[in-house]
Amino acid sequence: MQEYSSFINGEFKKGKEKKEIINPSNGEVITSVFLASPEDIDYAVKSARLAFEKGPWPEFSLAQRKDILIKLSKAILAKAKELAELESLNAGKPIKETTFMDIPSSAASFRYFASNLENFFQTEEININSQIAQAKGELIREPRGVVALISPWNYPLLIASWKLAQSLAAGNTVILKPSTLTPLTVLELAKIASKVGLPKGVLNVLVAKGEETGKVLCTHKNVDMISFTGSNPIGKKIIESSAKNIKKTIMELGGKSASLVLEDADIDSAVNGCLCSVFLNQGQMCTATSRIIIDEKIYRQFVEKLKERTEKIKLGAPLDFQTQIGPLISKAQRDKVVSFMNKAKQEGLNIISGGKIPEDKDLEGGFFFEPTLVEAVSPDSTLWQEEIFGPVATLTKAASTEEAISFANSSEFGLAASVWSKDKEKAARIAKKISAGAIWINTYGMFFDQLPFGGFKKSGFGKELGKAGFFEYTRLKNIITDQSKEAKPLVSYWYGF
Ligand code: NAD
Repeated sequence: MQEYSSFINGEFKKGKEKKEIINPSNGEVITSVFLASPEDIDYAVKSARLAFEKGPWPEFSLAQRKDILIKLSKAILAKAKELAELESLNAGKPIKETTFMDIPSSAASFRYFASNLENFFQTEEININSQIAQAKGELIREPRGVVALISPWNYPLLIASWKLAQSLAAGNTVILKPSTLTPLTVLELAKIASKVGLPKGVLNVLVAKGEETGKVLCTHKNVDMISFTGSNPIGKKIIESSAKNIKKTIMELGGKSASLVLEDADIDSAVNGCLCSVFLNQGQMCTATSRIIIDEKIYRQFVEKLKERTEKIKLGAPLDFQTQIGPLISKAQRDKVVSFMNKAKQEGLNIISGGKIPEDKDLEGGFFFEPTLVEAVSPDSTLWQEEIFGPVATLTKAASTEEAISFANSSEFGLAASVWSKDKEKAARIAKKISAGAIWINTYGMFFDQLPFGGFKKSGFGKELGKAGFFEYTRLKNIITDQSKEAKPLVSYWYGF
């Protein structure tokens, strides 16, 4: 396969240092990518700044911007098969997921924000008519400028596309910094974007080491905003570095979400929903509802079904359409999951399914881990509190709905939750009591471009998607024009004429 490099100012720029890109399903090298140096990062920021201030991009009308983003969306769909295969190869995601979720949803985000940008940019007028002043206030939205988008490895193209669709529709120029583990599909996207006519410098993709990104990109005086999705420790570092130049940030961080399965839940739907919520993408989802809280009256029945279904899940090669669980992203990620299992044993927890590296010869060499269910987890145990980011569900019993809510809220994170009950009104009342940014009722993991997403508590701040997400990538200006009849506003009288 071809070697890759960062995309800066409309060109691929080779560097000195190379990093191997590993196929997580067999540990073999897929290709290499040249890493951007601190000078390259600086060059990308300069290019983005120039493109924001002087290039054709700031002169584009909203209709032209819309047109180019719709073309980009179509071009992604035209290459959907290739992109899905590349994503599965690089990230180990089952091809069924990349084909039906990651790639079409990436294209859809560009289409949605392109189609709505004229509506979102409408000026709001507020007329002031008081005893002391008559004035017209106009609230206008502007792009923020140069935006750094830092994304994780778990949804490489999709999370990058959310960020790109919003920030480009808003008129910014961007520097996208993907994870060095999974840069391939976003580098392909850069090629596509330049083919559909996105001017040079508007989209730069930097494959750079984390520390250098922190030191150079996040402190750079010419970067106006940082949109970060990733772990809490790195999020904290970025907040610190961004403070140097008082940058706007949004933080989409970790999670430890809960599913609440109530006494009156439709058990089959709840089992299906919980399987998706912990095992899709090998459990490497920020929203994974890895804490399942089950009403004690249905606990046995629910857990038996969940266990039976978990044991039928098919592990296998990511490019096989029959595969339901692929490998974890890396050996390091799997080692982390293994260490959580050791902790579970030390804390006396009951592993009722999985809990180990599979012995299957076909899976040797890959970073696979069995889908796992751990029982009797109390809210003070490590597995209940810490984000595992692997295919592990922790199960606990609740004696009442109040106890279920209190267990759900017993986490430092507040990203998402799901509630399973046939009584939708009761479920809606419970949803309001859960401290999390997204609550699904009788479903799980439905993301819509129309609906803002973002966590509470240590899961971060700011929103992605929807009008609220789009607004994060804009700044609001207030223009006040005096409207007093005699053209003598209050300020004229202050010094007495
Ligand atoms: P990570 O924090 O290790 O890395 C995220 C990105 O930050 C990568 O591109 C990485 O190279 C970069 N980075 C590393 N060090 C940096 C530094 N010092 N300065 C600037 N950038 C730096 O996260 P990850 O392991 O790629 O992803 C998993 C984490 O992401 C999990 O905690 C998960 O919950 C979280 N996540 C959150 C959401 C959400 O929407 N809340 C979505 C997906 C993933």
